[in-house]
Order: sequence, then structure tokens, then C-alpha cells
Amino acid sequence: MPISTALPTSPDDLRDATWEDLAPLYDALAAAPIEGDGQAWLARWSALQELVEEAASLAMIAYTCDTADAAKEAANLRWSSEIFPQVIEQHVRLAQRLVDSGLEPPGMSMVLREFRADIAIFREENTALFTRIEELVAGYQKVTGGMSVAWDGRTLTIPQLQPFLKEGDRAVRERAFRAGAGAYLAEREQLATLFDEMHALRQAVARNAGFANHMEWAFAAKHRFDYTPADCARFHDAVATTVTPVVARLMAHRRERLGLDVLRPWDTLVQLEAREPVRPFADVDGLVGPAQRIFDRLDPELGARFREMSEAGLLDLASRPGKAPGGYCTNLPWRKQPFIFMNAVGVPDDVNTLIHEAGHCFHDFAANRLPWIWQRSAGHEAAELASMSMELLVTPHLVQPTGYYTPAQARAVEIEQLEDVLTSLCHIASVDDFQQWIYSSDAGQDAAARDAAWLDIRSRYEAGVDWSGLERERVSRWYRQLHIFELPFYYIEYGIAQLGALQLWRDAARDPAGTLGRYRAFQALGGTRPLPELYAAAGARLIFDREGMAELVGLVEARLDALRA
Ligand SMILES: [Zn+2]
Repeated sequence: MPISTALPTSPDDLRDATWEDLAPLYDALAAAPIEGDGQAWLARWSALQELVEEAASLAMIAYTCDTADAAKEAANLRWSSEIFPQVIEQHVRLAQRLVDSGLEPPGMSMVLREFRADIAIFREENTALFTRIEELVAGYQKVTGGMSVAWDGRTLTIPQLQPFLKEGDRAVRERAFRAGAGAYLAEREQLATLFDEMHALRQAVARNAGFANHMEWAFAAKHRFDYTPADCARFHDAVATTVTPVVARLMAHRRERLGLDVLRPWDTLVQLEAREPVRPFADVDGLVGPAQRIFDRLDPELGARFREMSEAGLLDLASRPGKAPGGYCTNLPWRKQPFIFMNAVGVPDDVNTLIHEAGHCFHDFAANRLPWIWQRSAGHEAAELASMSMELLVTPHLVQPTGYYTPAQARAVEIEQLEDVLTSLCHIASVDDFQQWIYSSDAGQDAAARDAAWLDIRSRYEAGVDWSGLERERVSRWYRQLHIFELPFYYIEYGIAQLGALQLWRDAARDPAGTLGRYRAFQALGGTRPLPELYAAAGARLIFDREGMAELVGLVEARLDALRA
């Protein structure tokens, strides 16, 4: 690409771009006067950002769909490790210019609040620390990605053990549980050493920017303007007092149904309701067809958007050799369409994943109508409200002929989903509580103290399972939680969003059309309002308190009782 200040005409023109190609485009913006109301300058920056972000997304999509291709791997790495750190620096530089101009273009007040926070925490000396942290993150991914276990003459990855935890044969479940935990325990020293250095670097990043510890820094960096660490502590307390007792009853029910004296950790996932494994679809058409009917029935606009993705080739759903694991939705901000990637193999989890990612896509479609790119994203608390609500709002439509399941299967799937909602809240509280402890106590630097703290914290939220003699296996769970290593403090958002989604689920039972209308109104706001107002547009509030949590958890337990009756 020649050095020029004209913007490329499409992200495809940036496929082979290096930072040297992009730097002049940012330099031109930094030098251009911000004239009049600033909107022309802002439009140019937004357009550049759309092109750059879409080019980076396309590189990631190309790589994750074909990980064996070395050129695609190199291109993706160039975008993520060479270009993006520079883009972030330019972001702060241009944000500073806009803030200094004193202008406040319409609809930009929330964005400017975020820009000011980004400027306030930016320290040039932290760039080298982030580079080192990324190397350590890559080290964690290498160790955990390379884990495998010998299983009946085969070599399995840790995720491939998951189906065996649902087996009817208790000995098989126990063997799968011990194999998975054992793989992490074998690497415990190495992972703890990686974490020691990550911890020191993250505390240093925070102190360089004038914060007491990494928790305080993370709240600023994540733009958490509307809740505090103390609110999160209230959330933990509310889970321990309102959710944990209900989970204890679920586990007691499970123990009785399984005819056991004590429930061990390998007994928590086995299906109680369905004798045969539920197979909702056989191929991609069998996954997409019912989803299309469900969205058409839920709302014609959502149905039209899903059809648009289908027809534009923006769904890559089937598992195949060479694809990266997992699933995601990524926005393509220049063409203003999202893309879904997943590895469907024909199980109910695949249905949940597609519906969840579609919820993110509907949010992207709605927010992509806003003029500037920064207005269109609203943080994980709002993003996950869109996706987790969709998972619950489709429940009445999952039965055939619209959906995937016979009535008996739909019942089994709904029970499993609601149980998962409750146990997840306990997990979220323990992960967040643990991270608060790690970064606000000096003992967080000590590997043995961390493991002891995890056991202590975990036992506040987890109930009804006998872990005696399995303390080391219980400790291994936190080493498995990649967020703690890779994305510190990114976890409470799931809990906040889950409680938001439960409020929409509650409201949809008596007013489905009104609830869906509020859901869509919330999505159209993107990130242009404070978080509590976004939730309010959806008819929900941020819940950290016992009363709010108790009401919703009570409704879930009542629904579970009705389904089991
Ligand atoms: Zn999500």
C-alpha cells in the first residue's frame, strides 16, 4: 500500500497491511484541524477505525476457520500483536485531541467519558509491561493447550473429557474427573510461576498509573463507572445467602435421584431427566433451520437479520478439522454485519451457543445503525445481557415443529439450563471474590496462600458436594479458569448480565411482546447511555443485593419444581 492519507476503500485493501502502512493514516488525523462542530474529523476517524477493526476481525476469522494455514496464522498474529498495540496508542493520542478541543458532538457524552478514562490511565512505561504480560498469557495458552490425557488407548484434550462427566457409569465419570484435574495438577508449579510474574506486572501497571492495586486499575480500564468493588462484594454475599442454599437443595435432589449416600464432584453433571443423550440436529441445516423459525416467530426483524447472515455466508457453524475450538460472534463494523463462528457437533449445547451468539449479533445489527463506531459497543455487562436474555427468551419456542426438541427433551434441556444458571452464579461469585482477594492482599503474591484462599472462598459458594480427600483437585479448578490468567476481573459481568436476563425471562412470561420490544430498544442504544439506563431500557436493573437476587432465584427454583413435578 503506498503511503497516502486517502482512506482505503475496503478492509480487503488492508489484508497485507503492516503498521508502517497504517501509521500515516493516523498521523494525518492527528495533524488535521478539528473544525466546526468536529463531526467531519470524527467521521474520518470513525471510518478509519471501522476499516482497521474489520480488517483485524477478518484476519482472525480466516485464521480460526483454518488454523493449519501458516500465512493466515502469521497475518492474525501481525494484527493482534504488532498492529493493535499501536492502534491503542493512537486511540489515546486522538482521544486526547478530541477532549482538548472541548467539543462534545451529539451522542458522544458516554464515549467522551470513556476517552477521558483511557487517557487518565495511559502510561507509556506500561506498554512494555503489557507486552511481557502478553508473552506470559501465550505461555499459559501453550501449557493448557498442550494438555492431553490417555483415555482407552486414545489421546484426548481436556474439553474432550466433558461428555464422560455426563456418563451414567459412575466409575467412568470419576476417571474423567480425575484425569481432567490431574492434567492441571501436573502443571501446577509451572502455572503458579507464570501467575507470580503476571501478578507482579499487573500490580506494577496499576501503581504506574497511580492506583493502589490492579483491582482499582481494572475498574477504571473496564469503564466500570456505575458499580464498585464494594458492590461486587455485596453481589458475592447475596449469592452465598440466596443462591448457594438453592444449589444445595438441587444437589440433595440429585443425590437422592442417583441413590447415593454422598454426592461427589463427578456426580454433578450426569443427566437425571433424559435416558438417551439428546441429539437436536444431525447437520448444519438441521441447526440453522429451526433457529430461523424460532427467530421468525419471536420477531420478524430478528428473523430477517438472521436470514441476512445466513444468506451472506456469515455463519461458520460446523466443527471440522483445522478449525480453532470454541465459539464467538464478531462484529464487522465497516460492512455493519456480524459473523458467528462455532464448532457444532449435534448436542444441545450447540443450540444454546448459536442462540447466545445470535443475541450478540442482533445487538450488533441494532447498534451498527449509530453513526460513530465507539457508540456501538457498550461493555460486557450490556453485551452479555443481549446474548443471555436471548437464550432464555427462546425457551417457549424450542419445541417441535418450530424448534429442535420433543416435549420430553425440551423439559430435560430446560431443567439443565436453569440448573446451570444457578450453579454458574456460585462459580462467578467465587472467581470474582478470589480475584478481589488476589489483588487487594499482599498474600496474593504467594502461590500456597492463593491455593489456600481459593479453597476457603470456594467453600462459601459451593454446597452439597463432598470434596473430602480431593482438596488438590478442588484447587486445580482456578488454574483452569483462563480469565484469571488472561483477562483479570472479566467475570462478574456474566453474573450481572445473567441476573438482568432473568428479569427479562420473568417479564416475558406475562408480557412476551412488551419484553421483546424493550429488548430491542435496549439494543438500539448501543453504548450511548450509562449502564443502569441501558438495563432500564430493557426493563431490568443491575442487581447486587440479596432481595433482588432472592426474588429471581426463587422464580427459577419454582420453575424447576414445576418442570420436575
Ligand atoms: Zn457472550
